[in-house]
Amino acid sequence: MTFRKKFNLPETATESQLKFMKIVLKEIGGDIYDSFPDSLYLARIQLGLKDRFHSFVPCPKCHKLYNKTDMDEIQKNDSIGIIRCSHVEFPNSASRRTKSCQTVLAEREGKKPELIYPFVPIHQQLEVLYHRPHFERLLRHWSNRRQFDNILTDIYDGQIWKTFRETDDENSAKFFRPEVADSHLGLMINLDWFQPYDGTFYSIGVIYAAICNLPRDIRFKRENLLVLGLLPGPNEVSLHKINHYIAPIVNELELLWSGITLNRTFECQNGKNIRAALVLISCDIPAARKICGHISALVSCHRCMKRANYEDHQHNFAGMEDMENWFITRDSTEHRRNALAWRSCNSTNSRKNFVSEKGVRWSELLRLPYFDPIRFIIVDPMHCLFLGIARWIMKRIWIDEGVLTPNDLKKIQEKMNQFKVPADLGRIPGNIERGEGFSNYTADQWRIFFMIYATTSLWEHLPSKDRKILTHFVRVCSILVSRILEIELMEEAHERLIKIIKLIEVHYGRVKITPNLHLSLHLCDCSNDFGPLYAFWCFSFERMNGILGKIFFFYFFTFLLYSDIVSLIFNNF
Ligand SMILES: [Zn+2]
Ligand SMILES: [Zn+2]
Repeated sequence: MTFRKKFNLPETATESQLKFMKIVLKEIGGDIYDSFPDSLYLARIQLGLKDRFHSFVPCPKCHKLYNKTDMDEIQKNDSIGIIRCSHVEFPNSASRRTKSCQTVLAEREGKKPELIYPFVPIHQQLEVLYHRPHFERLLRHWSNRRQFDNILTDIYDGQIWKTFRETDDENSAKFFRPEVADSHLGLMINLDWFQPYDGTFYSIGVIYAAICNLPRDIRFKRENLLVLGLLPGPNEVSLHKINHYIAPIVNELELLWSGITLNRTFECQNGKNIRAALVLISCDIPAARKICGHISALVSCHRCMKRANYEDHQHNFAGMEDMENWFITRDSTEHRRNALAWRSCNSTNSRKNFVSEKGVRWSELLRLPYFDPIRFIIVDPMHCLFLGIARWIMKRIWIDEGVLTPNDLKKIQEKMNQFKVPADLGRIPGNIERGEGFSNYTADQWRIFFMIYATTSLWEHLPSKDRKILTHFVRVCSILVSRILEIELMEEAHERLIKIIKLIEVHYGRVKITPNLHLSLHLCDCSNDFGPLYAFWCFSFERMNGILGKIFFFYFFTFLLYSDIVSLIFNNF
């Protein structure tokens, strides 16, 4: 098995290898090797190896989860063999109280259910990590660092880490303090959807957690990440239905908040008590809002009181002239109240009306008493600044509005070709003169484009108002992406972002103010809470998705079952 993991062999290859070994052994030793396993299934049974994950069967319609072992049992004992979903969506409605979903979950004995949701309890994964040498020492690393008043270097310099308490009593002890540096963990969660297969539309969602106590350079390494769940495709689960998948994770987080005992750790052979809190959700905006129960980013902001304007048949976030009226942090207590009220609505329509008025749905994460549904959701700088604003300014403003003509783009490309950049920066795709070049830029390529190429290559082609936008934006990027963030410079970045939005609103119209432009106004709040953007941005998790994407792609072509792929991913962590 170790050999298989080390060389990343597919199960089919390992099976052939086992079969071959059995033939050789039988040739040498004869009948005594009759019982040697010739399949992975038998090898696992004989060696007593078990998968480390639980499997749930989600209802394909409402996504309610059923324990797979229970389902197998029912299937075996039930003569009819058909299992239907018994979920009641509106238990408090007089007319719908008895109306259950009734979608068929499994038809006959032996037939595998369509979807599987694999899940490894967080405490089980932590137990494995705590067995490793040096893990506890690395968890304590943050408590020995030097602190400065005017700079932010990591998540520990943010207000959340510094002020988070053991209970909701403000006089209670700080949760993150040196004495418990290796037993009180701060978790950061990421949910991302990715399409593993080219040419077919198939989305798989992965929920990871990083342990913030670990030093930044190893925090996001594959071996230190916890994989909390793998949401089955082919489509992204919609809106509040995602709660069914989050519920088992929240059950675990509730346990970890009250504290669990690990039987043995590397440093404590007699066991150790640990606690953990989820202090940060770092996803792209649609995913973050979905798991936390906020309405779409097109309609209103999740951090402040700003609501979108509906003009010319589309939403926009213009209206910088009365910023003081809406740039006010939302109240998390009110959010919780509204989420509970949404949950008690007794029909789809009443829930719909409620969401359009209040902008809030129920999220299972609200079961965590300490969870702040406003401050703990960061605006991801990678999506906001690079995939959002950089692309928007270049493509939808300068190119679409004719500021940069095809001829300008050609000259810009010629200029860019003259750049000699260090090889480790990565190449920027060419062909921008045909308008194709920018289409597939990744967030990182947009960052490199604006921080290295843009000023020199665009300057002579831009009128003065756009030169101002460019100058402000390049400066904002260089301040915000630095690994050590000066608090004073952070304020400068915020002021410049306001200027960019005002310039775009005045010169290109209110319709050009997108949710991302608005959300950039919250980047500095996020840094204040969680340190430099580098400490919490999604870049780190995206690398992980690249690895998983490759595994899925590879296994798709070996025609293995989804459950085999899942087994490979979970048993490799
Ligand atoms: Zn159902
Ligand atoms: Zn806002």
